[in-house]
Amino acid sequence: MPPSATDYRRLHDLHKDLKKTQDKLARGPRQIRARQARVEAAQDELTKLEQSLQEVRGLADRKNLDLKSKEAHMVELQCKLNTAASNREFDIIRGQIDADVAAKAVLEDEVLEALERVDRTLSEIAEKKEVIAQLEKETRDFANDFEQKSAVLREQEVSLSEQIKETEKIVPSEIREQYDRLVDAYGPEAMAQANGGVCNNCFTQLTPQSKVLLNSGKILFCGSCGRLLYQG
Ligand SMILES: [Zn+2]
Repeated sequence: MPPSATDYRRLHDLHKDLKKTQDKLARGPRQIRARQARVEAAQDELTKLEQSLQEVRGLADRKNLDLKSKEAHMVELQCKLNTAASNREFDIIRGQIDADVAAKAVLEDEVLEALERVDRTLSEIAEKKEVIAQLEKETRDFANDFEQKSAVLREQEVSLSEQIKETEKIVPSEIREQYDRLVDAYGPEAMAQANGGVCNNCFTQLTPQSKVLLNSGKILFCGSCGRLLYQG
């Protein structure tokens, strides 16, 4: 029995299925890379947070040292005040102590503020680490899942390729080369159904003669887009 339009539709469907399978195989690694990029971005953010923790800790330490030396200075002034030789000297030292009290209050606020920033940064770091752990887990799970799926997809790819090879025997030898070139170039779009006298790929109206040929179960190449046409 000569090949019918149904045989060509089956060949076309096999090409479409193969393309879908290959697309899925290609999409998995892309999706894994996208997830890995999110992990890396979060890791970069963590590094920045850790750097800023060092900075605010350094700032808190410096402010604390300033505060300690201010307090030591105040003790010193207090001793001098107790041994002041004159009222004038007493007033000068008193004035210095007042200035130190004001400066100490500012430093205390600054130390407190720096310590709050340390606490804030520490909790941001903890949150970021959780986010990274979560993203890493998702990436691992996705990769494992794809690993399993891809084994099945690869089997499908082999099986579909074999079925295509077998089914392609219906393509007449005189047009086989042209068909192969089309498949290489367009994959499943190498073939197109003709419905209602119109090519389904380029939507060009076929000539009456082409319609007659297609209706009689023949195949031909679309005069407009060159695809292999079969009756839909
Ligand atoms: Zn066409």
